[in-house]
Amino acid sequence: MTGFCPTCNEFRFSDRHECPPIFEARLEDWGDDHWREVRAQDAERAAEKFCQDRDSNSGDYTIAREGSAIVFVRGADGTVGKYDITVEAVPEYSAHLVETLPPTAKAAA
Ligand SMILES: [Zn+2]
Repeated sequence: MTGFCPTCNEFRFSDRHECPPIFEARLEDWGDDHWREVRAQDAERAAEKFCQDRDSNSGDYTIAREGSAIVFVRGADGTVGKYDITVEAVPEYSAHLVETLPPTAKAAA
């Protein structure tokens, strides 16, 4: 079955989908009892996904605007990793036709 997995929200390309493991993540300035569950292949990707989800869910893109964050990620075995997150904004160009002008002669080559 393809489509978004109801458990982990990832897109399933085949029947062999396995949900990625669960990590917990929090921002450095949150208290030690404020962890959010994140599913990812490893702790590093959990840290990235946590920031990405946080920015898009809050809608204010605080982490992207500040360009960095410190995130703690806790694995199933209780090990906690501290990650330095950096955000790179990729410029996206979009064109909107304003007006069509009458044809003019092309410049001579
Ligand atoms: Zn899944």
